[in-house]
Amino acid sequence: MKYCKKCLLPIDYLNIEINEDGVCQHCQQYKDVEYLGVEQLKLDIQEALKKNKSEKYDCVVGFSGGRDSTYLLWFVVKVLHLRPLAVFSDDLFIPDVMLENIRTTTETLGVELRAIKHDNLKKCFPHHLNAWIKRPVPESLMFLNVGERIGYETLVEQEAVKEGVHLIFGGRTPIQSGAQYKTDIMKIGHKGGRLSWIMGYAKQVLLNPSLAMNIFCLKTQYKEFMVKSWKKKLVKKHDLTIIHPYYKYIKWVEKDIENVLFNELHWAIPKGAKNSGRFGCEVDTLRQYLFYQILGYNDTNVDLSGLIRNGQQTRAVAIDKLEQTVNIPEEYIKYIINKAGVDADKFLEKFHKKYPLRQFVKDQIE
Ligand SMILES: [Zn+2]
Repeated sequence: MKYCKKCLLPIDYLNIEINEDGVCQHCQQYKDVEYLGVEQLKLDIQEALKKNKSEKYDCVVGFSGGRDSTYLLWFVVKVLHLRPLAVFSDDLFIPDVMLENIRTTTETLGVELRAIKHDNLKKCFPHHLNAWIKRPVPESLMFLNVGERIGYETLVEQEAVKEGVHLIFGGRTPIQSGAQYKTDIMKIGHKGGRLSWIMGYAKQVLLNPSLAMNIFCLKTQYKEFMVKSWKKKLVKKHDLTIIHPYYKYIKWVEKDIENVLFNELHWAIPKGAKNSGRFGCEVDTLRQYLFYQILGYNDTNVDLSGLIRNGQQTRAVAIDKLEQTVNIPEEYIKYIINKAGVDADKFLEKFHKKYPLRQFVKDQIE
């Protein structure tokens, strides 16, 4: 497999254009962002803070237990000196080590944690898994985590409204925003908006009708499709201010983040893992595995490529990290599939008949 000469996107990455020097358009077009800084952030949140009616909280933080939102929570407490409520959407597929990190982090910071459990994903996942394997293509992989989004897209806003808080912080980063391939791959005409999404969705359902043959799942698919516009209305109606500080205000620096996670918040990483990279909802882990096995890349390629362009990591170090991260042990994948009540051995046998097992080895990279 060949990769862009500068980053770790393979030359058959979705919609990639490689120039004669072997460099992708993402590397060619990369520009450093000028961040507005902490002082500007403090100024920009004043208005929202004044609107608050809560006596207890200054803001609500969407807290997933991943490294970005964990660092964000630390930042809100230690740098902005605010009193947040941490809202965690528990989709019932969260690894124990992550639940443990969530507890230690909020305890160490003295932050109130509101963990909200919901079973939308749990109810949908077995059906979508069984349906997907009937026609296992990357275009329909986005069905697998249907039910997860309803939680993290709206719970935080709902809790803010309940508490009379107008300021919300989210941990999205510009580095992850490159991982559009997951939804773009289903769209028909990747530059189109909602229509290309709907057409792409319809195509997948026509080619594999079992994806839609469950009333609860179908309803959840619809709700998730609508969730963004529903959220927009909620934000407008209650005059909420949502800020993702890593976008405009502060630079996402992996070294600083890991320093806080490991030295101040006493983070643990799963047995066998070698870095703080993505480990989260088990259904996401399975999807990442399947994307990698089918396409030869996943979010790890995108994240590490972002860090290389950003000057935070050399390509050589990133290659080591890629090797540590993309080869997910098959035992763990089996555990996730079995947890859904689907026979993992049969599932993987069928899957690997179509896509032979892919292992990443460093020497593949030129
Ligand atoms: Zn590149």
